[in-house]
Amino acid sequence: MQIFYAIAEAQEYLKTQQKAGKTIGFVPTMGALHAGHISLIESSRKDNDLTVCSIFVNPTQFNNPEDLKKYPRTLEKDCELLEAAQCDVVFAPTAEEMYPALPKLKFDFGTLETVMEGKFRPGHFNGVGIVVSKLFHIVKPDKAYFGLKDLQQVAVIRQMVSDLSFDLTIVPCPTLREADGLAMSSRNMRLSAEARALAPHIHQLLELAKDKLLNRESSAHTQAFAEDYFRKYPEFELEYLEIADFDTLEPISQVNVPGKTAICMAAFLGGVRLIDNIVF
Ligand code: AMP
Repeated sequence: MQIFYAIAEAQEYLKTQQKAGKTIGFVPTMGALHAGHISLIESSRKDNDLTVCSIFVNPTQFNNPEDLKKYPRTLEKDCELLEAAQCDVVFAPTAEEMYPALPKLKFDFGTLETVMEGKFRPGHFNGVGIVVSKLFHIVKPDKAYFGLKDLQQVAVIRQMVSDLSFDLTIVPCPTLREADGLAMSSRNMRLSAEARALAPHIHQLLELAKDKLLNRESSAHTQAFAEDYFRKYPEFELEYLEIADFDTLEPISQVNVPGKTAICMAAFLGGVRLIDNIVF
């Protein structure tokens, strides 16, 4: 496995590989890798000759400096996991390498970013757009793999790829969960034992909310039910629970089209911000 820290070196190596006719699959991450990330590496390995994983805790997508400071950084262990998963290339630049100066360009994703994560993390998707487009230019992948755990991110990246004619395919991948249903996340390692024991309520609530909607309950009733549910567990601070169209992320009042409804939520648990969703 090759590890690059400098943009020019990564580019030079990848150019040679592309000239030799190899297809490139790309998995952008912020590190602190877990089995969810590795499942993206496995998908990429199936489809491409060469798999590149980037590890970069991108400062421009954190609206909360404390959150950025606390974000886990485990580069050595990440490289061991990637080596074991037979990833071919790791690109792990420093913030100075990626941003010698802060970019002046601003992304505006319109209604895709005024809801949910975009609403509660102002500037987040601008930072995502900047870093992912820079990484796409550096790696020049044929396919890029993104987890549906970050459903809104997938929608935003698809929009960006379409608007800017990036010559690549976005491959959305399913969310990997722990045995008790908790969505795997780098942030889970910051949960206390007590918080970890409560965390599966997020997925349990999403399943219950799905059943309500499938039984023709309205979105408003389902949202009220969710708020009630978390009142029983005051350790959670529910930030939002939205019932939305899977593609446009616009709120919907009732389930209409099968396979096109998403319930997305974010909650703080013991000071750790967790997000999850369910699509049905
Ligand atoms: P992150 O390191 O959190 O930025 O995530 C890097 C990529 O891994 C993103 O495309 C995420 O959506 C994806 N990812 C994170 N958690 C999971 C999971 N539990 N299952 C599948 N993909 C995931």
